[in-house]
Amino acid sequence: MQIYKVGGAVRDRLLGKPVTDIDWVVVGATTEEMLAKGFRPVGADFPVFLHPKSGEEYALARTERKNGRGYGGFIFHASPDVTLEEDLIRRDLTINAMAEDDQQNLTDPYHGQRDLEARLLRHVSPAFAEDPLRVLRVARFAARYAELGFTVAPETLELMRQLSESGELEALTPERSWKEIARALMEDQPQVFIEVLRECGALKVLMPEVDALFGVPQPEAHHPEIDTGVHTLSVLEQAALYKQPLTVRWACLLHDLGKGLTPEEEWPRHIAHEHKGLKLIKAVNERFKAPKDCQELALLVGKYHTHGHRALELKPSTLLELLQSFDVYRRPQRFEEFIAACEMDARGRKGLEQRSYPQADYLRGAATAARSVAVQPLLEKGFKGLELGEAIKGERLKALKAYKAAAPA
Ligand code: ATP
Ligand code: MG
Repeated sequence: MQIYKVGGAVRDRLLGKPVTDIDWVVVGATTEEMLAKGFRPVGADFPVFLHPKSGEEYALARTERKNGRGYGGFIFHASPDVTLEEDLIRRDLTINAMAEDDQQNLTDPYHGQRDLEARLLRHVSPAFAEDPLRVLRVARFAARYAELGFTVAPETLELMRQLSESGELEALTPERSWKEIARALMEDQPQVFIEVLRECGALKVLMPEVDALFGVPQPEAHHPEIDTGVHTLSVLEQAALYKQPLTVRWACLLHDLGKGLTPEEEWPRHIAHEHKGLKLIKAVNERFKAPKDCQELALLVGKYHTHGHRALELKPSTLLELLQSFDVYRRPQRFEEFIAACEMDARGRKGLEQRSYPQADYLRGAATAARSVAVQPLLEKGFKGLELGEAIKGERLKALKAYKAAAPA
């Protein structure tokens, strides 16, 4: 049997990027031989194994044939007579379809190296269209390598466009899509992921609620960039610049969905968009079965981001309601993430990226003030149950009144 490094490890070495995980392909072997060498099978009917020591993935060279919708509709053929070239042609992009032996000899039948130099994300063969997940993968690689100047080859974009129109994207499972979305959002330029999806028509299928924001104007005084879609991309860009976690990035992407529902006669104003957007945020959350912390933060940011921006003007009672809604006493981290999302929203405006955001510290201070109320003295006074809850709230309100009074105007 011959063993080659494939995929990302080869690509990233040639790009001079750090290689994190290595994928291997094995030519000329059978499942039985792999098992005899101590490799552990990954799945029952999938010719992929884990190395007994390193835990890295070793896949038998295979060909694929599609016989139905979605990913389930694939027939794999793995046998010792499948060649390296046959295995490489089923891969998505030319830059991902190179292999390397232990002497660093490159096998590159589909000119991945040429495309690396040309900074092009190009599909290997028309079989690209057999797995719609590749549309998301290409958009993700576009986000990852945007800083190196990579773009999607026009003919690949055209294929992605056809795939998006064909209805195949709807066959993707939420789990597979979410994995790509989450990884793409964590790239340094996640806004490129959304832009590429939009350009090929996939955004309209996957997240029509986000797609609908393009072409929707906002008041120029607050939003010099005017367009709500452009604003959303900038917010995402800022979130990456500030190294925000996935929860915050997801919330940034969805925070203004309500603006897509505003009747045109009301443009550029968006009355109650925070509230109107909630059902859309919920729908997107559920469509991709986003993790609970992402879902939660997106809904809270959607509902309360304007409160965040107006923090310094809020009445103490409103401030208290905000803190209570976040359960800031038991969930301080979530409130921090809310503050971060609000700040990214404020920075994601043309020409205002550097403006300071005093609301952030003000909100933190308010949370500290409310949290500093001690429960013990109230217990000692004999408060119990509901009354205790009310008494704590009363003390927190007092603390917030004092906090607001002491804050510099
Ligand atoms: P990363 O750095 O994100 O791990 P990668 O290219 O190694 O990038 P993997 O998902 O680890 O991506 O997949 C390894 C290789 O398998 C890819 O380089 C590609 O050749 C192939 N591959 C993975 N998923 C697909 C797919 N859905 N369609 C076609 N080829 C794929
Ligand atoms: Mg990999």
